[in-house]
Amino acid sequence: MTHRRKLIAGNWKMNKTAADGAALVTELVGTIGKITDVDVVVCPPFTALESVARAIDGSTVKLGAQNLHPESSGAFTGEISAPMLRALFATHVIVGHSERRSLFAETDAFINLKVLAALKNQLRPILCVVESLAEREAGATLKVVQTQLEAGLQGVSKEQMANLVIAYEPVWAIGTGKVATTDQAQEVHAFIRGLLTKLFTEPVAQRVRILYGGSMKPANAPELLAQKDIDGGLIGGASLEARSFVELVNAASAAK
Ligand code: PEP
Repeated sequence: MTHRRKLIAGNWKMNKTAADGAALVTELVGTIGKITDVDVVVCPPFTALESVARAIDGSTVKLGAQNLHPESSGAFTGEISAPMLRALFATHVIVGHSERRSLFAETDAFINLKVLAALKNQLRPILCVVESLAEREAGATLKVVQTQLEAGLQGVSKEQMANLVIAYEPVWAIGTGKVATTDQAQEVHAFIRGLLTKLFTEPVAQRVRILYGGSMKPANAPELLAQKDIDGGLIGGASLEARSFVELVNAASAAK
């Protein structure tokens, strides 16, 4: 079986000033800044990217953005492009987060353009596929995930898949304290890997990391991370405080 190194990514959302972000990562770097058996990514708001980049310089912690615009430059007031993120030393970017889909009306087609723009600019997209409570209760989970994944990955090559990460996020578990059961999460992760086999190849599917996102905390992480197809976490609330984030990274290290 292919060994996939676990990945823990912190999505700070609209939290932390440049100074607060630098202080948080300075604490992280002090404890997990040399870790090599887990990939650690922090995704501050745009305004803190530069200060955080400086604070993680020389450590193994990597920098991600929370969004990007598909175009490289132009008349897109308020937007940030992939080359701008690269210039700040970002290596990852979250694409299609549920909050972007629901609050900012991002469609699968637009999300696909962002995925392609990220890859073209050597940024690794963390493509979120999300499911609402109504969809789960209607038994539509797998269909919804399939539709988002097929649309989001249009035009992505087998080779590019090596640089892409997928995050499965049940919206009803995001910031709510409700967590999907390990069986519920593993079922969807295994389904996603099966779909990647069909869309690409078995070796490609075995290499792609699939993260779980939705109230992952130090208390529930070990069980989730022990699942065969759960390769890490996209962490919201618990990434805003050094202690809980470090515990999650340590849980990923122990689960490898
Ligand atoms: C998220 O927003 O991606 C997320 C998983 O948030 P939380 O961990 O707070 O549920």
